Amino acid sequence: MCRHLGWLGAPRSVASLVLDPPQALLVQSYAPRRQKNGLMNADGWGAGFFDDGVARRWRSDKPLWGDASFASVAPALHSGCVVAAVRSATIGMPIEPSASAPFTDGHWLLSHNGLVDRAVLPLAANAESTVDSAVLAALIFERGLDALGDTVAEVGERDPNSRLNILAANGSRMLATTWGDTLSMLRRSDGVVLASEPYDDDPGWQDIPDRHLVVVDDSHVELTPLKGTA
Ligand code: GLN
Repeated sequence: MCRHLGWLGAPRSVASLVLDPPQALLVQSYAPRRQKNGLMNADGWGAGFFDDGVARRWRSDKPLWGDASFASVAPALHSGCVVAAVRSATIGMPIEPSASAPFTDGHWLLSHNGLVDRAVLPLAANAESTVDSAVLAALIFERGLDALGDTVAEVGERDPNSRLNILAANGSRMLATTWGDTLSMLRRSDGVVLASEPYDDDPGWQDIPDRHLVVVDDSHVELTPLKGTA
């Protein structure tokens, strides 16, 4: 399983989210604390952010801890909306930069932590990679992010073994689902962090229950149980 992180709020440096905290994605790439599947996340990484409304990404198929160029530049990248991830490839999936999250349709940045049988997904001509997460992202983009909760519940029903933790943002909204893996939220005075696991020991981190949709608009947060939840 991968680990992902999103920020919506006042502009912050990408390094302050992804590299600097004591348990940041950088550390989660080799020593995650809450990961249930897989020991580390060394098959790639991606950092995406909105810059004057434009989605920009830096993705790699190498471990995050080895990237001295990103470590040098990340403190200079500032944004009010960031989506980043470190990847542990599911067996049989390609390892290439285009298989690392975040994926984009030009408006949204999206990460998938989990796995899904591609046979239950429609063929997607515009998927960025053949990795399950990219095919799923293409379906979510096509259905529209307003339908994220319904799309996840429907795919989850078609593949009962799937794990479908999604994190997506478009510069002014941030959405996430929990379906089979962990997600935590930190509400700060200047914005909201959603992350697969807390990046520090701040007592303000709150665990999101499984099979929920989280919607963050400005600093307003809404939590809804997903369909199919008993
Ligand atoms: N299935 C996806 C992949 O192979 C995501 C894996 C994960 O969450 N670890 O990249």
